[in-house]
Amino acid sequence: MHDDSPYDVVIAGGGLAGLSLAALLGQADFTVALIEAREPQLSWPEDSIDLRVYAISRASETLLRTCGAWPAIEARACAYREMRVWDAQGAGDIHFDSAELGEPALGHIIESRVIAKALLEILDDSGGVTRFCPASIQSFSEPNGARTVELDDARTLGATLLVGADGKQSRVREQAGIHAQMSHYGQQGLVAVVECERDHEQTAWQRFLPTGPLAFLPLHDGRCSIVWSATTARARQLLALDDAAFCAALGEAFEYRLGEIIGVGERVLFPLSRQHAERTVAPRLALVGDASHVIHPLAGQGVNLGFKDVRALAEVLISARQQRRDIGALSVLRRYERARKGDNLATMLAMDGFKHLFASPVPPVRWLRNAGLDLVDAAAPVKRLIMRAAMGL
Ligand SMILES: Cc1cc2nc3c(=O)[nH]c(=O)nc-3n(C[C@H](O)[C@H](O)[C@H](O)COP(=O)(O)OP(=O)(O)OC[C@H]3O[C@@H](n4cnc5c(N)ncnc54)[C@H](O)[C@@H]3O)c2cc1C
Repeated sequence: MHDDSPYDVVIAGGGLAGLSLAALLGQADFTVALIEAREPQLSWPEDSIDLRVYAISRASETLLRTCGAWPAIEARACAYREMRVWDAQGAGDIHFDSAELGEPALGHIIESRVIAKALLEILDDSGGVTRFCPASIQSFSEPNGARTVELDDARTLGATLLVGADGKQSRVREQAGIHAQMSHYGQQGLVAVVECERDHEQTAWQRFLPTGPLAFLPLHDGRCSIVWSATTARARQLLALDDAAFCAALGEAFEYRLGEIIGVGERVLFPLSRQHAERTVAPRLALVGDASHVIHPLAGQGVNLGFKDVRALAEVLISARQQRRDIGALSVLRRYERARKGDNLATMLAMDGFKHLFASPVPPVRWLRNAGLDLVDAAAPVKRLIMRAAMGL
């Protein structure tokens, strides 16, 4: 069955990257088809927290405001004003405070499904975006200067441009023959929501342990979402502990900065890897988000990088159309690739550098990184630069 009206853009994947791109392009009067394999979660008990929780930068907040999604997100977003990072193997300590920039917050901690639902509501209210869900992209071809996309239910869609926003294991990337360099960190991220004895002080906390970083992210209801990155063996041990033993281990690993851990919900492990697609564009094809790059979650930048891709691609497509150029032409898409290549690669390498630097037990490295943390902490202009970069400003 062929859907006769060809779309300007077919987006594979309705994660946060795909949803936000559809919202921006829909607003700009592109005809868009959004294909998503899984039914979205649209309701949940008031007191339940999604296990996927993100630190959303100021730049990402601006993008979500542009999409019109922010008002529906705000009530369940926790602004974090400060960030504290310290090393378990020394006395190095660094403290970032948004007040030093004259800003109200460094960013917000928000559940993934809250952002997804707000974006879906925008799409369903706007005319230009047709959603196919649940549906998967099976294959695609380029018969006569346009993309033909085949879905798993045998429907076919025509498109001027196909965007792969289909995550780490992107089928679009694979079928386009774009190689992705992948390496496993040998770590898992244990994710859970915890209740602490003390208030989280609207602060994002991160302690670097020899086995990996442990982050406490403040939530709007006073609890914290944790990401405990550890070697696979250690992560499995932690997962197998009963709740009381886990809370005790977590409190100790976190040096009781927020007192005892008095409750923990479901615990889930995510394997941690890094991945980098060798190209992000081909004729009539572009990749955004995790389909293009996956990084270590230690600085919480994955979704933020995806949103930057989305903004850059939307800008390139809107400007190409204003100039009456073909939005699927490689020369147009290369502008998007150039705009994002440096930032994506630099962020990935920085995350790798941090991960290796903080994992090293070698005394000179330990000394250097602790001295480095203290030096940066004492150098206000450097700290301001780092904060502005993390905020995506
Ligand atoms: C433990 C952990 C903690 C993290 N914390 C943070 C954080 O604090 N801040 C941050 O910015 N990032 C964080 N990240 C990274 C973040 O999760 C990812 O970068 C982000 O989810 C990627 O979004 P995406 O839309 O590109 O891909 P995804 O979220 O993977 O979405 C892809 C979508 O495509 C769909 N799909 C797949 N194949 C097909 C197909 N063939 N047809 C149709 N649909 C398809 C899938 O169902 C899915 O919905 C973290 C990651 C981990 C593992």
